[in-house]
Amino acid sequence: MRIAIIGAGYAGLSCALRLAHKHGGRAEITLINGSESFVERIRLHEQAAGKQPRALPLSERVRGTGVRLRVGWVERVDLQGRTLSVGGELVGWDRLVLALGSHTETRSAPGIREHAHTLDAAGSATLSALLPKIAAKRGRVVIVGGGLTGIEAATELAEAHPQLNVKLVTRGELAPGFSERARAKMRTSLLRTGVEIVEQRAVRSVEPGQLDTALGKLPFDACVWAVGFVAPPLARELGLAVNERGQVWVDATLRSESHPHVYAVGDCAVLREPLGIALPMGCKGALPSGLHVANNIARALTGKREHPFTYREVPYCVSLGRNDGLLQLPGGGVVAGRLAARLKELICRGTLWALALEQRRARPLFLLRGRSALPAHGTHPHSAQA
Ligand SMILES: Cc1cc2nc3c(=O)[nH]c(=O)nc-3n(C[C@H](O)[C@H](O)[C@H](O)COP(=O)(O)OP(=O)(O)OC[C@H]3O[C@@H](n4cnc5c(N)ncnc54)[C@H](O)[C@@H]3O)c2cc1C
Repeated sequence: MRIAIIGAGYAGLSCALRLAHKHGGRAEITLINGSESFVERIRLHEQAAGKQPRALPLSERVRGTGVRLRVGWVERVDLQGRTLSVGGELVGWDRLVLALGSHTETRSAPGIREHAHTLDAAGSATLSALLPKIAAKRGRVVIVGGGLTGIEAATELAEAHPQLNVKLVTRGELAPGFSERARAKMRTSLLRTGVEIVEQRAVRSVEPGQLDTALGKLPFDACVWAVGFVAPPLARELGLAVNERGQVWVDATLRSESHPHVYAVGDCAVLREPLGIALPMGCKGALPSGLHVANNIARALTGKREHPFTYREVPYCVSLGRNDGLLQLPGGGVVAGRLAARLKELICRGTLWALALEQRRARPLFLLRGRSALPAHGTHPHSAQA
């Protein structure tokens, strides 16, 4: 069976590696990703603040597992003919896993794409180079978005560049959905790092050098747009059933409701009620869903029934600079300060450890299975990078 996985973020890479470990020589796995490096998205605010990103080439992450890596953007998928095209080549598949991830929503107001930065790999690199220059003249940075990404970015940038004048602007209240204690803690940490909190301020548009808001203009030297994530348009363009954020509606086994030979995992998937669980857009949803689909495909390969996905709610852990953080416990209590910062760091490292463990499990099996089931690495027509 040919399995193609589009997207090598937390969900897609974990899916590919687990499948390599479990397929028992019955599958050819092709993993396709837009960039040749794994992007540690959960650290992009740290990178915007000046931290050097770690080099994480995907070729090393799949080495020795039998997973064929293709680097390129998938532009077309033929759901009837079961092919996809990447870099002008056709890749055939019997099962397709969409692990497309998400990106910052930039269509909700005019001028965002022209005049604001987002926390993707390119945006973070640009900010990392730009902010020291703005800080040197005691300039102004506005961050739009009062959710976790905005809060983590604001504390991180203000802590790394104390000369900056940082404002966090949000349409409603800060950190909606968090307990009062958690929100009070986040507020204290923001103020401690010198961030000015501007709540109840809807942004109408981003203009060169200023935000146009319902209550007047807010000038800036750099604007970071961090209002929330949407899925890439590919799934909608293919005609899959998607929600308003472009996420694929999936059933309990994480198969597309409209196209059951297509699975969706991570940020680009949404589970239909009444399962009653909104898969969070985060690593805590991406890693388990990627692994679950791999397990299910491996079961299907041996004629076994696929299992429904079960997701256990994991507490949110938020970084508030390098030495401060917050963990909201079930019931609304919080663990805060240095301990929470250490926990958060452990969680970030843990995502890479989990992926490394999957790779380690897959490697010896690939060697034991021999290369009879799969063509040698680098000789298959689809193995452009490995
Ligand atoms: C600043 C920041 C901080 C965050 N902090 C946290 C946190 O503390 N905890 C948490 O749980 N989450 C956090 N998140 C969210 C988390 O990063 C995402 O939820 C997670 O990355 C989703 O994983 P994923 O595998 O679904 O998608 P992604 O990691 O986005 O990976 C998707 C991959 O698909 C590839 N791709 C997409 N379309 C195509 C295509 N057409 N062709 C080829 N390749 C394609 C992309 O190149 C990308 O590599 C944070 C995000 C940001 C930006």
